[in-house]
Amino acid sequence: MLTQQAADAFTVLTGTAPTGVWTSPGRINLIGEHTDYNDGYVLPFAIPQAAYVAASPRTDGRWRFRSVDLNDTVEIGADGLVPGTSGWHSYLAGVVWALREAGHEVGGADLVLTSDVPLGAGLSSSAAIECAALAALADLNGLDIEPMDRAKLARVAENDYVGAPTGLLDQAASTLCVADHALFLDCRTLETSQVPLAVSDAGLEILVIDTRTRHSHVDGEYAARRASCEEASRVLGVPALRDVTDLDAALAQLPDLVGRRVRHIVTENQRVLDSMTALAAADYAELGRLMTASHVSMRDDYEITEASVDLAVDTALAAGALGARMTGGGFGGCVLALIRADEEQRVADAVRGAFADAGLTEPVTFVGRPSAGARRLV
Ligand code: ADP
Ligand code: MG
Repeated sequence: MLTQQAADAFTVLTGTAPTGVWTSPGRINLIGEHTDYNDGYVLPFAIPQAAYVAASPRTDGRWRFRSVDLNDTVEIGADGLVPGTSGWHSYLAGVVWALREAGHEVGGADLVLTSDVPLGAGLSSSAAIECAALAALADLNGLDIEPMDRAKLARVAENDYVGAPTGLLDQAASTLCVADHALFLDCRTLETSQVPLAVSDAGLEILVIDTRTRHSHVDGEYAARRASCEEASRVLGVPALRDVTDLDAALAQLPDLVGRRVRHIVTENQRVLDSMTALAAADYAELGRLMTASHVSMRDDYEITEASVDLAVDTALAAGALGARMTGGGFGGCVLALIRADEEQRVADAVRGAFADAGLTEPVTFVGRPSAGARRLV
């Protein structure tokens, strides 16, 4: 449906049908929170919601970007490719720029975009549009770029052109994910592997609960956590907290607060590895246990949860979820609950009821079926 919508909007804009339509999804992190900047492990999967880009080459060396969702069109030439330019189109112009900076020949093009990844909900709508645009531009220009290199280029667009200092998780997930799998990513070596996450085969579902709580102090808290981790690495004499092998010995050398931050990172890395083991054995009870343990660690040691996500987790667990945890940077955003597929309504209703009782905004829920990464559709 969105494929057709992108193609139709392209035809309205340009008067001709697009050469093709490309897509790339949003993502959710199953487990492994705040581990990325500690050279650790993450385990995201792609969600069904995705960006769709209809595109054709142009002969005049210019780029025109249209967002159907924002009803806005921006056209630039090569002299308009300036890092630091603001506005939604900078995510797409940044991809053109990153490809050219890397030495790829990128001719002019029209790109028309639509997406059902909600903006700014922590589901990575930005990586979805970058990676879809990158897939389109690579194909239109006959560029042979490995998937991980595509993810890196999309990250360059976001870091160096848009100016958002994010890790590789979003773009790697959007580019590399495979349906019914999570993507293991070692953030130090950039080694990846596909981990089976065929929850529906086990009669289960991953219910995503968007609490719609977003706190404005997130950036400051994020910087403070990063600073604590860097300080701890210095004190412990390790390149990154990934390298802490003896947690008790490390804790003995650190003040209480920093020690708790370190304990979250070290135990969370281990939970990612343990989750891979559990998934290889299709042991979803164990996965659920690890998810809940991750939440408790984020709540008590890393102190990045808040009332609405704690309420969503507690309510989902009380309603029978095998496990539940906040996902993403923290202080709001989405909660994942691993539930039996036939209990979706019950769990969702319980969470909605608890939110109403607490006077909170009604949460949005959807099933986060592990979906495919970037690809050409037509
Ligand atoms: P997130 O990636 O968590 O959704 P970000 O702040 O990283 O949040 O990215 C959101 C930004 O990406 C939006 O403000 C907008 O500039 C751009 N964006 C995402 N989806 C679209 C879209 N469908 N149309 C236009 N711009 C979009
Ligand atoms: Mg983003």
